[in-house]
Amino acid sequence: MIEYYNNLYCGSKDEFFEFIGERAVKGEKTFVVTANPETFMHGSRNEGFDRLLRDEGTVITPDGIGIVKAAKWAGKTTAGRVTGVETVEELLRVGSEHGLSAYFYGSKPEVLEKLKAQIDEKYSGLNIIGLRDGYNNKDDEVFADMKAKKPDLVFVALGIPRQEILIYKNLADFDKGIFLGIGGSLDVLSGTKKRAPGLFIKLNCEWLYRIMCEPKRIGRFYNNNVKFFNRIKKEAKKNEKN
Ligand code: UDP
Repeated sequence: MIEYYNNLYCGSKDEFFEFIGERAVKGEKTFVVTANPETFMHGSRNEGFDRLLRDEGTVITPDGIGIVKAAKWAGKTTAGRVTGVETVEELLRVGSEHGLSAYFYGSKPEVLEKLKAQIDEKYSGLNIIGLRDGYNNKDDEVFADMKAKKPDLVFVALGIPRQEILIYKNLADFDKGIFLGIGGSLDVLSGTKKRAPGLFIKLNCEWLYRIMCEPKRIGRFYNNNVKFFNRIKKEAKKNEKN
């Protein structure tokens, strides 16, 4: 699992935005995985997910503070978090500025409706060429449509690990595009779900806010985070010995 850090983007948020914005405009195909400890734990449990995290072409960004904190065990220093929500916002901005095309797949129909209204208002230069909710559509049909339309930006909001596995499975059939699995980001961006208040974000406690709003997440959070730190430390020690 510690090897996933080889693909981690360690620069600052602004540097990453410049990097990804440039790739989007140049049409350089890129798969971005926005990671928190749960993401890495999926890799340790699921062979397909493990492969996509290890693939040299995958760019992993530190969405969760846990990934940043544990980086030292992997001998890495990161400039801090690069969140998925902010990455989506930045890509919408760049897309609007350069008249890029965007395809959205996933989340509830009403969320996409609100999102579209927001894009029309705030990012009107963006060309929406696909807007498919994640409840009334079939993966294969959506990806066939996507392949025919060749979007510059692809946002898949189906939750982890499904969204990443789906992107990775289809990636070779695209010549260009920035591909991003974005979980519940559209729920936040559309205003359907609130992002944590500023203080929580500043103190890197967004995870705590999410648990407070959705207490059923606590088991999932505890399981993934405690296991993640134990495992990273163990792997680091093992590497030290060898
Ligand atoms: N979702 C979907 N279809 C499904 C299941 C989930 O479109 O069959 C969407 C859901 O509406 C939400 C996102 O996938 O917008 C998952 O959000 P969550 O916050 O659970 O993301 P995660 O924590 O998995 O990144």
